[in-house]
Amino acid sequence: MVHRGLCAFYADHFVLPLPAGHRFPMAKYAWLRERIADRLPGVCIQEAPAATDGQLLLAHDAAYVSAIIDGSIDARIMKDIGFPWSAPMVERSRRSVGATVAALETAMTQGAAVNLAGGTHHAHAAAGSGFCVFNDIAVAARSLQQKEAAQGRRMDVLVIDLDVHQGDGTATITAGDSSIFTLSLQGRDNYPFTRARSDLDVELPSGCTDELYLQALQEALVQVDRRFSAHAVVYVAGVDVHENDRLGRLGVTADGIARRDIMVFDWCLRRGLPVAMCMAGGYGKDLSAMVDIQVNSVSRLAQFQRQWLSLEQPAAGR
Ligand SMILES: [Zn+2]
Repeated sequence: MVHRGLCAFYADHFVLPLPAGHRFPMAKYAWLRERIADRLPGVCIQEAPAATDGQLLLAHDAAYVSAIIDGSIDARIMKDIGFPWSAPMVERSRRSVGATVAALETAMTQGAAVNLAGGTHHAHAAAGSGFCVFNDIAVAARSLQQKEAAQGRRMDVLVIDLDVHQGDGTATITAGDSSIFTLSLQGRDNYPFTRARSDLDVELPSGCTDELYLQALQEALVQVDRRFSAHAVVYVAGVDVHENDRLGRLGVTADGIARRDIMVFDWCLRRGLPVAMCMAGGYGKDLSAMVDIQVNSVSRLAQFQRQWLSLEQPAAGR
């Protein structure tokens, strides 16, 4: 196999028009891409493809998809999403989903790939919320499953959602679907205040330290081992667990995030599992510092990929 370097899919040039002072951290996506280009020259940065209607329908209701596309979407749903509707918003949302679809497909043969945005885990089948229009995680998992099923292969996908907020949309979309397992570690006192039920939820107290956080993750991975056997992993690597995050409420340090990534990647490597990573949340008081933490996560994913490619028989290397 030719090692082409880690593929990173981006969509930050599809700009979502926002009113001045909007709290969505739009600038961070371009910064992340630029810093990766500067500091991680082995990473292959590619424009994200747009998710097709057919792909979106694998996780979303037809009426919701068409109302988002044509702009007839209920004003209350747009208020929950938190963006004003516009045609560029629709395009960016499609690209953000397409990036995770592409990352997961790429990971199957290259061991790893990353969406430099995504992790839009608050989008439910018939309603987005919390800056999430479509659910890239559920769409990507189902899209891969559909592709593999056409070859007569079963494809069970594990979602490791370590964004500080619960992956409620992913949980509701995949409820009752035994082929997708959702693990979500979240701040107990954080949005969404109405919880969905993931396959495994872990609630963390406000102020949660590195030690407590890493112990909770370790225990959760032991439980996953007992309950699910995956063929591929989607890692939702939100850095809003960081102690300086404006929304996160936890006390995890940059070192804690590094150890978290390594714990996830080591666990996946021992099982030969390919990993698609999406960046998800990060709303640092110092956005530039937050982006640096995310660059480091991408660097660790590239290291994981090199190790995965050197495995004798990676699970997905077929
Ligand atoms: Zn979050």
